[in-house]
Amino acid sequence: MTRLSDDCFAGDDAVLRLDEAAARLAGSLTARVGTGTVPLAEADGRVLAADIHAPLPLPPFDNAAVDGYAFRHADLAGGADGTARLPLRGRILAGSAEAETVAGTACRIFTGAPMPAGADTVAMQEDVRREGDAVLIPARIARGANWRRAGEDVALGARALPAGRRLAPEDLALLAALGVAAVPVRERPRIAVFSTGDEVGDPGDARGPAGIYDANRPMLLALLRRLGAAVTDLGILRDDPALLRGRLRAAADGADLILTSGGVSVGEADHVRHVVSEAGSLGFWRLAIKPGKPVTVGRLGEAAFVGLPGNPVAAYVTFAFVVRPLLARLSGAEDLPLSGIPVRAAFAHAKKPGRREFLRVRLRRDAQGRVEAARAPGGALSGLAGSDGLADLAEEVTHLEPGETVVVHPHALLR
Ligand code: AMP
Ligand code: MG
Repeated sequence: MTRLSDDCFAGDDAVLRLDEAAARLAGSLTARVGTGTVPLAEADGRVLAADIHAPLPLPPFDNAAVDGYAFRHADLAGGADGTARLPLRGRILAGSAEAETVAGTACRIFTGAPMPAGADTVAMQEDVRREGDAVLIPARIARGANWRRAGEDVALGARALPAGRRLAPEDLALLAALGVAAVPVRERPRIAVFSTGDEVGDPGDARGPAGIYDANRPMLLALLRRLGAAVTDLGILRDDPALLRGRLRAAADGADLILTSGGVSVGEADHVRHVVSEAGSLGFWRLAIKPGKPVTVGRLGEAAFVGLPGNPVAAYVTFAFVVRPLLARLSGAEDLPLSGIPVRAAFAHAKKPGRREFLRVRLRRDAQGRVEAARAPGGALSGLAGSDGLADLAEEVTHLEPGETVVVHPHALLR
């Protein structure tokens, strides 16, 4: 269950900076999705519900970091020509039980095999010469070389992963190495998704002369799934206030968030705002961004509501910078990593001050191998599809020249 407090509705008529809008939403929404346990193999992308403390040290026992020879460093003393000759005794493979070294000898050892008690150093086999049943070890080797100590990676009981982490494949490696077989996770937030518009139809359906196909729903559903949400696709709603009211009310039952696109502007068929204000409570923001000006936030019953603009590029941008942080919050996920990366601009651009602008860009390498951003060719949807990310021009910027630095959000870091 989610809670949206009323302070995010303040300043309805103001044109808000995007960071201000995001901060209001983040500050007003608390995640109350429940928790459960999933097997490790199903934990990718889920949000950890509790800190994970190491139930064993990593590595679990002292072991050899290389294939070579284990010995006591003190036994190297006396090698006049810079090498010491140690007779070879014993052989320890990975998975072998721990053995003991005999003083004054070297023991054959392989990567990951337990260090024999008493040994403190491992010489790499490439640095050692075999001579009958003895080895010649260079005396310059440092004491402790190639000796991996128990717990040097993760100490027993240390916090290995924090609550709120959205688990990635490398986290699964860490959990598995620690022997964690089942993981406490947050339940997925439940998101109901609609498109709106009399002109909008589904691919595969007949299209009238003034009809267009729904570009937003497939995109939003896919983005939501990638972000770990449990989505319900509720189709396309006609621009009919009575129908909208009924369907939105029904959707509020069993959803943490209702997400729509279209119908939030100021046209005569833009009913979403009015319906949300009647059936629940409403905040309407005009964001100082391009594209993506009107965004409606609100509440319908226990569900949060966000209405995105209908223009698909505007829907993508507002999803990335309004819905994505909100979804992280709903999911109980820790703060999102910074996605903006400064790169060299390979284009000029003039803009109005006072609003933040997002441009579809491709990333490429210049002659020196440095990454630079170029404008993505094509129009709205072809340019979005053909881009690697969004260049982010701050409110106060009025022009950008080639060679200047511009912040880019690669699409891959927005999902
Ligand atoms: P609206 O916000 O409803 O005024 O829509 C703004 C523009 O986006 C109009 O040109 C709509 O036809 C278009 N649009 C709205 N919804 C969608 C959608 N789901 N897919 C593609 N275009 C849409
Ligand atoms: Mg519309």
